[in-house]
Order: sequence, then structure tokens, then C-alpha cells
Amino acid sequence: MSEKLESMKVIGDYLGTIEEFVPCQGTYSDDGRIYASNIGKAILDHENHTAKVDAKMPSELKEGDVIFGDVLGIRKNMVTVIARKIQGIKGEIDAKTSIYVSNIAQSYVEKPDDLFGIGDIVKGKIIRIEHGLIDLTTKDDVLGVVKAFCKRCRYPLDKDEGRPGKLSCPSCGHIEQRKIAKDYGNVELI
Ligand SMILES: [Zn+2]
Repeated sequence: MSEKLESMKVIGDYLGTIEEFVPCQGTYSDDGRIYASNIGKAILDHENHTAKVDAKMPSELKEGDVIFGDVLGIRKNMVTVIARKIQGIKGEIDAKTSIYVSNIAQSYVEKPDDLFGIGDIVKGKIIRIEHGLIDLTTKDDVLGVVKAFCKRCRYPLDKDEGRPGKLSCPSCGHIEQRKIAKDYGNVELI
């Protein structure tokens, strides 16, 4: 008989010892003890002696979900965003998503790099999930960058009231552009 115990764990939670389990996906061991390295469901299998922690998988996401994530990479034709949170749903996720250049804004976008910065927090809506690839849009007014960091000094940027669509750095004065969400700066990420 297989005995599996499942419970939610966060990073650093104690799972067991290396005498009891082989540390698998989402875990790490330190001095003979196994801990969670993911936020998710801990699965302790006493028959196969394995311990793992499953992060919330992309399969739990669906089209129409609004997610918050951070910009991992910007390429010529797309922006890669790691989704961390689904709006209105407790708990964290960890899913790679993409915003294609044609899904960034209503108007034509030449270079995604002009409208996003690495590490920016983005609010996007899932428009397609196919073969494990998740596509987002930020076309709507309420979607886009909700928190951005200065490309020059990394300080969080403020909305520039004098220049619509622009952000300014309170630290170094740099003026930058983003595809700004309507509620830029006012987003509660809980
Ligand atoms: Zn700055």
C-alpha cells in the first residue's frame, strides 16, 4: 500500500530526513534534513521513499485569468514574463508566459524593449494556452506594467503626471516609457 501525505508547504519548510526520503523535485537537503525549495503541495511517498513539492502548474491556469508576473526577458518579438500570482486567487504560481509584440498594445509596437524593462511587474491576461505555452495580452487599458524600475539606477519609477504614458525616476530623474496599466503603482499584490 502506498502512503502519500499531501500538504501545502512554503520554501524552507521541513519535510523529513534523508533516511526517510530521497529529496526530489522542489526540495533540497541540508545536513541530512529535507526542506521545500518551492511553494506548493508537498508529496511524501512512504512507499517509494520520495519527497517532492509540486509548484502550482500551468495546467491550473486558464484562458481569461489575469496574472501578475515579472519580466524575465525581452526579445525582438516578445516579452517573457514569469507569472507569480493569479488575480483574486490566494497562493503563488511559477509559470513562464509570453507577450507577443502584437499583443502588447492597441497601437503598433516596434520594439518591446521600448515598453518594458527587466524586472518590471506586469499585469496580463491569458489569451491562449497551447502545448504548455501561455500567451498573455496587455492590450487593455487596465493591463500592462504596474510597477517599473529605472533602467539606469533600478529605483522604482513614478507615474509622471506632466507627461502621460511616461514614468520618471525619483532618484536619478531618468524619464522612461512603458506600456503602463491604468492602476500603475496602486496594485495590491496579495
Ligand atoms: Zn533612476
